[in-house]
Amino acid sequence: MANPAANPEPDAPRHLPGARAAVLLPLPLAGAYDYRVPEGLTLADGDFVAVPLGRREATGVVWGEGRGSVADAKLKDVIGRLDCPPLPAVSRKFVDWVSRYTLSPPGAVLKMTMSVPDALKPPKPVTAYAASAELPDIRMTRARERVMAVLAQGPPRLGPELAVEAETGTGVIRGLVDAGAIIPVQLPPPAPDSGAGSSPGPDWRKPGPDLSPDQAKAAGTLERAVAGGGFLVTLLEGVPGSGKTEVYFQAVAEALKEGGQALVLLPEIALSAQWLMRFKDRFGAEPGQWHSDLTPAQRRQTWRAVAEGRVPVVVGARSALYLPFSDLRLIVADEEHDASFKQEDGVIYNARDMAVVRAQLGGIPIVLATATPSLETVVNVETGRYQSLHLPDRHAGAALPEIRLIDMRKQAMPSGQWLSLELRQAMTRTFAGGEQAMLFLNRRGYAPLTLCRTCGHRMQCPRCTAWLVEHRQTGRLMCHHCGFGAALPGACPECEAEDSFAACGPGVERLAEEVSEAFPGIRARIAASDTLTGPHAAAELVRQIENHDIDLIIGTQIIAKGYHFPLLTLVGAVDADLGLTGGDLRAAERTYQLLYQVAGRAGRAERPGRVLLQTYMPEHPVMQALKEGDRERFLAAEARDRRQAGMPPFGKLAALIVSGPDEAAVDDTARQLGRAAPSMEGIQVLGPAPAPLAMLRGRHRRRFLVKTGKDINLQGVIRDWLDRAPAPRKVRVQVDVDPYSFL
Ligand code: ADP
Ligand code: ZN
Repeated sequence: MANPAANPEPDAPRHLPGARAAVLLPLPLAGAYDYRVPEGLTLADGDFVAVPLGRREATGVVWGEGRGSVADAKLKDVIGRLDCPPLPAVSRKFVDWVSRYTLSPPGAVLKMTMSVPDALKPPKPVTAYAASAELPDIRMTRARERVMAVLAQGPPRLGPELAVEAETGTGVIRGLVDAGAIIPVQLPPPAPDSGAGSSPGPDWRKPGPDLSPDQAKAAGTLERAVAGGGFLVTLLEGVPGSGKTEVYFQAVAEALKEGGQALVLLPEIALSAQWLMRFKDRFGAEPGQWHSDLTPAQRRQTWRAVAEGRVPVVVGARSALYLPFSDLRLIVADEEHDASFKQEDGVIYNARDMAVVRAQLGGIPIVLATATPSLETVVNVETGRYQSLHLPDRHAGAALPEIRLIDMRKQAMPSGQWLSLELRQAMTRTFAGGEQAMLFLNRRGYAPLTLCRTCGHRMQCPRCTAWLVEHRQTGRLMCHHCGFGAALPGACPECEAEDSFAACGPGVERLAEEVSEAFPGIRARIAASDTLTGPHAAAELVRQIENHDIDLIIGTQIIAKGYHFPLLTLVGAVDADLGLTGGDLRAAERTYQLLYQVAGRAGRAERPGRVLLQTYMPEHPVMQALKEGDRERFLAAEARDRRQAGMPPFGKLAALIVSGPDEAAVDDTARQLGRAAPSMEGIQVLGPAPAPLAMLRGRHRRRFLVKTGKDINLQGVIRDWLDRAPAPRKVRVQVDVDPYSFL
C-alpha cells in the first residue's frame, strides 16, 4: 500500500508552517479559501486536509498558495492532514478545467471527485473473535460448545462468520465475550472484492480471441498508442458486432501490462451485465465498477483502491471520470455518440468531451468506440484532430440485417392497435421458426396521455408542464420528468364523471397487451427503466433471453445498446418517428443512431436479421439513410445544415436556464438578463422564451440560447453577462454549455 503520509509528487509545491495555503472545499463556493499551515505540519498541493468552516469541520484539498481571500485577522489554522493519498496534480487540473469550461464553481466539480468522503478516512480495522487462552468457569450450553469448538480450529473469525459456522446467533457470541471465554481481536481491513486488493485482478496474460486481420491491425494501433503514451484520440468505428469491444480489450491489456490503469466509460453502466461477463471471460476477473447502484461500502473501497492504484481497470458511468486515478494510461468511451453521457443537472457536462480533456491533461490515449459516430467526432476526424480506425465487417461474416420501412399512412389501423399487418406477419414467421423478436417503442408505461371522455380534461403533472403517464402494472399515473405519482382517480377531477378516462397512444405496457391478444402463448417481457431496476434485473433478463425463456422483448431505448442475442432475428420499431418531433438540434442524428443501434440487435449470429421500421415519414432523410444503409450521405446533409446555421460542431452553443418557484421573479430576472445580453458581432442571443418544460418540479423556467463563432470565448462572454445582471437569491441561472436537451 502506498505510504499515505508522503506526497508521491516530489515536486508538488510545499507549504510550510505559518504560510497561507488555499484550500478548495467540495462546496459551490466561488473559489478556494486561505488557511494557515499550523506548526509542525508541512503541506503539499493535493493533500486532503481538515479545516474549520464556521462551526463545522470540513474536508478539502490544498489548492496552491494562499491568494489573500481571507483577512489576516480571520485566518484560521488547518486542523490536520488526512491519512490518504493526495489528489494527483492531473485530477486537480481536471477539476479546474471542467469548472472553467462548464462555468460551475470549482468546489462543485471537486465534489464529484470527493464523492465518497468516508473513503478519505483510513479503512477501519475489523473485529474478529478468538478463544481466550484461559477458559473461565462458565455455564456451557450446546450452542456455546459449538462456538468454542469452531474457534478451537483455525484462525479468529468475524462475528457473523462465527455465528454461521457454529449454527447459532450473534447473541450467544456476545454472551461468550461478556463472560471472557472469547476475546475480540482487531484484524486489518478487508480488501475490496472487485479487481482490487488481494483477490487476483484482471490478467493481461490471458490470451484473447484470434483477431481477424482488420481487428488485429486496429488492435495493434491502439496497443502502440498505449505503450507509447501521449495524448491521442482514436475513433474506433465499426458496425455492431464487428468486434470493437474485443479490439479495445487489447488496448486495456496493454495498459495493464504497463502496470497502469484503464477506464472504460459506458452509458447505462448499471445495465451492462453482458459487458461485465465478457470482461471476465477475457481477463479472468471482474473490473472495478463505478455507478449509482453501488453500496456505500463498495464506493468507499473502490474510491480508495483507485486512489492507491490497487484497481487496474474501472468500468463506469460518467462519474467514474472524476475518480482520483493514481496512474491512468487509457480511457475508452464506448458508444461515444450516446446522449446519456451528458449530465443534465448539477455540473452540466458531456462525459465524452470531458474524457477527451482528461486524456489530454494526463497525456494518454483515448478511444471513442461506436457504430454511429456523432457529427462532432466525424468532423474532428475530418479535420485531422482525431485518428480513425474502421472495422468493416461483422465478426465471422454475419450479415447486416435488411431494413425495411412500413409506411403507416397506408395502413388501416384499428383503434387501439399499433402493429401493422406486415410486422405481425413477420413476428408470426419468426416465432414459428423458433426465433426471437424485439419490439422497440421508446415510451414507458401504458399510455402517454390520459383524458376524460366526458369533458376532455387531460391528466397533467401538478408540478411540471407535462402529461401524466399511466402505468397500468402499478395502477398509477406518473410524471416522467419529476417522478410525481398518484393513483388513477375513480372520477375525473374536473367534471366528476365516473370511469370516464381514456388512454391515448401507446406505451410498452399497452403494446404488450396488443401482443398478448394477437399472439397468445408467446412469452413476452417488457424491458424499460422502471421494469429493469438495476444490474441484477438486467442480468436476469439477459439470461432469460439467452436461454430462450422469452420469445419477445418489448423495450425502450434501454435495450438498444450493446446486447448480443444469437436467436434474435426480428426487430420492429413501432413508432420510428417518435424522436424526430420537437425542436432539438440533434433530433435527426439521434433518431438515426438510436434506430441503427436497435436494428443492430437483429441477427448477430449465423441467422440473418430483419428490421421493420413503422414510420409516417418514409421520405425523411433519416428513414432513407437507414433503408439504404447510406450514413455518409445523411451525415453530409446534417453537416451542411448545421454549418449553414452556425450550429455545433461548426459554432458554439450554450443555454441559460432561468428558474425559480416565483414566476414573476423568474420573468423579471429573465428580462434583466435579456437587457444585459451581449450585443457584439459574432454573438447571437435568442430569448428569453418560456422553456418547452415551462414548469419543472414546481419551478418556472425561461431559456436563452447563445450562439457564437468558434473563435469567440463563449465562457468569457457568459461570465461577463452574468456579472452584469446578477440574479436574486430565489432565482437560479444555470449554464449549459453544448446543450443536448432543449426542454
Ligand atoms: P462490437 O463491440 O463491435 O459490437 P463485439 O466486440 O461485441 O462487437 O463482438 C461481437 C461478437 O463477436 C462478440 O460475441 C465477440 O465475442 C465476437 N467476436 C468478435 N471478434 C471476435 C474474434 N476475433 N474471435 C472470436 N469472437 C469474436
Ligand atoms: Zn412532474
